[in-house]
Amino acid sequence: MEDLLEIKTASVHTVPLDGTKLPLMEHFYTIQGEGYHTGKAAYFIRLGGCDVGCHWCDVKESWDANLHPLTDTDWIVQQAEQYPGKAVVVTGGEPLLYNLDYLTTELRKRGIETYIETSGAYPLSGLWDWVCLSPKKFKSPHPNVIPHAGELKVIVFNKSDFAWAEEHAAQVNPETRLFLQPEWSKRDQIMPLIVEYVKENPKWRISLQTHKYLNIP
Ligand code: SF4
Repeated sequence: MEDLLEIKTASVHTVPLDGTKLPLMEHFYTIQGEGYHTGKAAYFIRLGGCDVGCHWCDVKESWDANLHPLTDTDWIVQQAEQYPGKAVVVTGGEPLLYNLDYLTTELRKRGIETYIETSGAYPLSGLWDWVCLSPKKFKSPHPNVIPHAGELKVIVFNKSDFAWAEEHAAQVNPETRLFLQPEWSKRDQIMPLIVEYVKENPKWRISLQTHKYLNIP
């Protein structure tokens, strides 16, 4: 909670610590394109704010939480409720900057499954049906997030990332699904390396950003 408070005081927004308002960057109903739930219809909630600083980040416009309107969480839940696919993916930015207890409780009350995509840079809040932990080199995952990872998704940018991926695989539960995903801008160079790596190390699977190939959000 100290971490959360620090972020709040550093931003112009005063995000209520009870999670009843959240900085909403965008929200849309689509198909989950990557990782364990690939191919599944889901409502995406992208929260603004991230201080992890990946240089290859493809949503840099999410970094400054102040650019994204503080939105009533009840309103967000009402939007999610309108769609037939009863799964929500909370992403960012780094969504664990915020207290997600209220959001996830309200979603679950309505029979909606809750999934999160996180770097794990901050302690876990919220009630989750699925945690996708995608650790980043610039900020190590918080130890409280690691045991909850249903999925470890490592973005591979260069060859040294395989050893780094193994370091994290050694920390998660034995049941955690392991995915290697090429960083989009380097996919042509990296993909052959991933293919060979997974053939040699079959505990890993390949995750592709299929939504980008399909040209859907
Ligand atoms: S953690 Fe995610 S949103 Fe934040 S900089 Fe890295 S890729 Fe971008």
